Amino acid sequence: MEYKKLVEVYEKLESTTKKLEKRDILAKLFRETPDENLYQIVLLSQGIVFPKFTGYELGMATQMMIKAISISTGFTSTEVEEKFKETGDLGLTAEILIKNKKQVTLIKKTLTVLKVFTNLREVATTTGPGSQDRKIRLVAELLNSAEPKEGKYIVRTILGELRIGVAEGLIRDAIAYAFLIPKGVKEEDAIQAVDYAWNILSDFGEVAVLCKEKGLEGLKNVKPVLGRPIQVMLGIKAESIEEVLKRHPVVIVEFKYDGMRMQIHKKGEKVWIFTRRLEEVTKQFPDVVETVKNHVKAEECIIEGEGWPIDKQTGKPLPFQKLSQRIQRKYDIERMAKEIPVQLNLFDIVYLNGEVLFNKPLKERIKLLEEIVEEVPMKIQIAERIISSDIKEIEEFYHKALSLKQEGIMIKNPESPYIFGRHVGGWYKIKPTMETLDLVIVGAEWGEGSRAKWLSSYILAVRDPDTGEFLTCGMMGTGLTEEQFQEMTERLKPLIEREEGRVVWVRPEIVVEVSYQEIQKSPKYTSGFALRFPRLVRVRTDKGPEEADTIDRLKMLFESQGKFG
Ligand code: AMP
Repeated sequence: MEYKKLVEVYEKLESTTKKLEKRDILAKLFRETPDENLYQIVLLSQGIVFPKFTGYELGMATQMMIKAISISTGFTSTEVEEKFKETGDLGLTAEILIKNKKQVTLIKKTLTVLKVFTNLREVATTTGPGSQDRKIRLVAELLNSAEPKEGKYIVRTILGELRIGVAEGLIRDAIAYAFLIPKGVKEEDAIQAVDYAWNILSDFGEVAVLCKEKGLEGLKNVKPVLGRPIQVMLGIKAESIEEVLKRHPVVIVEFKYDGMRMQIHKKGEKVWIFTRRLEEVTKQFPDVVETVKNHVKAEECIIEGEGWPIDKQTGKPLPFQKLSQRIQRKYDIERMAKEIPVQLNLFDIVYLNGEVLFNKPLKERIKLLEEIVEEVPMKIQIAERIISSDIKEIEEFYHKALSLKQEGIMIKNPESPYIFGRHVGGWYKIKPTMETLDLVIVGAEWGEGSRAKWLSSYILAVRDPDTGEFLTCGMMGTGLTEEQFQEMTERLKPLIEREEGRVVWVRPEIVVEVSYQEIQKSPKYTSGFALRFPRLVRVRTDKGPEEADTIDRLKMLFESQGKFG
């Protein structure tokens, strides 16, 4: 299949903001794609060439991209840079410069989807000495054969800014509309089946191929693959214990530990650990791997729990920051494991020796979990829990959790299956803090005076789940220590996309938990709201921008303010 066909679709997608129209455009594309290109097309529609869990990401420094454009068009790097300053968009720059190419290409081939996909995969995986040059060559090779518009989208894909407004929900619906609904499957069933398979496989490319080949039944029978993360179940916020008891008269109540979700896969002697964002962190936690190998008595399983940094003297948690240090660590890992030991508290199991357990009620899953875990204090334990229908007892348990410096409690419906994501009827969380927001930093401002070398105030944004775009809602410049300003500046610098005077705009990657005094309406920000006195609570290294709070949550919090204040 020619890449040109995909580019035509990108353009159509870019020209409409209507969700249903986008869905139909994508469904048509998927349906018309030959089998051998389907996997590639589904991924490229998301602007990626590997599913996220593999850890391989596209990306290239601005200067390298400028070089690739220069090599393939014959313009000098300075000329490319000038055009870039003028347009503020490297994709557009490539398009314009390819149109006005200075050199005649001798061997020009029509770009195929396969060629683009293969080169981009190599860009994402090439590392080590000489990798920068190799990457530049791979991109230049593509741009050399590209038509102007093709060039634009190749550059945008590599830089992770496709801007066609296609979020995961749309891909899911489009797959259902491409292969199931035309065969008479009801919309709701079709979407649910695609969603189920996606939650387990975490790769829409594979889901689409499976859906086309094996239809509805194929999707329903998907089994987890050991070593590949599945999406996780999460809790919704409950206003009060009473409220949950009204819905579920008997509940399982557990400590909500303050650490990191660990999804642990075991296959014989092999163990993998994944975060809730499906990132693999096995290498960073050799101590947890050993503990699981020695004390989880199952040939094959997927279990879940919270790993938190423990103070061996008091048994209480160390600050979350300590755990972040372990997650980010690339060397001296064994020493770190000794310095900052991790306690694992397990709370669920979804797969055991070939059997898929998602549909078993929680109380039965817990029994299975208890059967296979050999507890070792301060290393591996089942989450502390009670089964209760008594408010007083639950409140006491809540206070116990807080006095042990854990975050709060999770109240769980004992009859609930394992449901991916956040849903009523499953898990409820109760914690004491005022509602904070998890926001994405989309820009920042250079400081003044003693802070001149730092980016010292940050433009915050919520997510629009329909378009995948980020809408601004405030500026934050407090709650950070000098060290944190410095650290944040280091994090943001490589993400800078453009500068306007003292303001820089960055790739939306960093998520921060923010407290505030109030939410106000404001035309100054694109969300229509402004946070008053936003303060940094912590950097959410465990969350990605796609998990940040949405515009809907911001609106809801704004509206609920009235009730109390
Ligand atoms: P939140 O990030 O506030 O939505 O809370 C969800 C997270 O709480 C999960 O991803 C877990 O990492 C964590 N957690 C801690 N203890 C538990 C527990 N007992 N059951 C479920 N999740 C827990």
